[in-house]
Amino acid sequence: MLVLVINCGSSSVKYDLIQTTDEMGVCRGVVERIGAVTSIVKHEPAGRESSKDTKVIANHSEALQEIMNFLLSSDNEIISDISDIKAVGHRVVHGGEMFKDSVLIDDVVKEAIEQAFDLAPLHNPPNLKGIEAAQDRLPDIPHVAVFDTAFHHSLPPHAYLYGIPNRLYRRHKIRRYGFHGTSHYFVSRQYYKLRKKSKSKTNVITCHLGNGASISAIKGGESIDTSMGFTPLSGMVMGTRSGDLDPSILFYIVEKEELQLNSLHAMLNRHSGLLGISGYASDMRDLISEAKNGDRRCQQAIDVFCYQIKKYIGSYMGVMNGCDAVIFTAGIGENSPLVRKKALEQMDHLGIEIDEQKNNELVPGKTERISTDASKVDVMVIPTNEELVIAIDAAKIASASDQSPWV
Ligand code: AMP
Repeated sequence: MLVLVINCGSSSVKYDLIQTTDEMGVCRGVVERIGAVTSIVKHEPAGRESSKDTKVIANHSEALQEIMNFLLSSDNEIISDISDIKAVGHRVVHGGEMFKDSVLIDDVVKEAIEQAFDLAPLHNPPNLKGIEAAQDRLPDIPHVAVFDTAFHHSLPPHAYLYGIPNRLYRRHKIRRYGFHGTSHYFVSRQYYKLRKKSKSKTNVITCHLGNGASISAIKGGESIDTSMGFTPLSGMVMGTRSGDLDPSILFYIVEKEELQLNSLHAMLNRHSGLLGISGYASDMRDLISEAKNGDRRCQQAIDVFCYQIKKYIGSYMGVMNGCDAVIFTAGIGENSPLVRKKALEQMDHLGIEIDEQKNNELVPGKTERISTDASKVDVMVIPTNEELVIAIDAAKIASASDQSPWV
């Protein structure tokens, strides 16, 4: 089935057209800087030359129109008719407590996504905008919402409750939700397949290390703990997000710096993390190259990042009574031998031994085991494919909705 996957940010629309039958990408791209004086439009048809252009794109609806024009243009020979696309899968960041699985989108689902605006103010509003724009352009096919939080619905109360009055959980649903669920799900499933492991008897720790970063403990195929919490701001230090900190620091900063709440929000989300520590960059490549040139703060940012990965791995091994594999994925996890090495060094006591040559020589984009033969724990690098998970879920739900009006 040909499925269009849509991932909308506040000023961007990413898309991926995927043939789910053979799990192959047909064309992908992005419209960025929507609403700015000029927007950037990129398309990458599989196996062919990609294109990059600047245009005036005022809103998400025009971005969707631009994408559909490209896919349908006879010059590009991607699809000949709009009816070739059988379903649309939408990435929705926060499903709150309501959504444990992907769902066919109807008015009730859209209302629930809107109700979760307060839980993910940066993500859910553009996600809903994208759904509405895509429904306008493709009104006759099923649209499916796939939630970043859904895979973590298996967290037990002792992992999702915070140490605050329970009334706040009951009234406002303040609890740990966890994010990057499609990625943690995908790489853990790839591991079971590759190493022929029985899901029910296998414990893995998945490290999704990109601009956003989260680590999950997956026991018997289910997420039982994860580093992100109520929002994607918490957990380990990230590109520009602070990750966890002592809550008292917030009162202290507000008082000392005379900050308004919105400035505090911007500081924690956009000016903290690797960027904040280094004072130089949020991008790991830039930090590594400046640290090599002797920049102390860039080196400290890398050190903090790797130390926190190590702490999560150690604690999740404790929680699961050991693990079969540690899996690295996303931009940093897939591409940085230095981060993988630093995060896992001196963990032989826990049965983790990395093979330096395999780690250093790994070709980006490849799936590989990078632990030594003697290592009790497999250390794996597995490229993530969140779009494929979304496409497959959308195809499944669309097929079911063909057969039953009760999906
Ligand atoms: P993502 O959010 O998954 O796209 O990941 C983005 C992060 O991956 C950025 O911090 C990049 O610097 C990092 N990244 C990409 N390639 C490399 C590389 N070769 N070495 C180190 N970090 C990389």
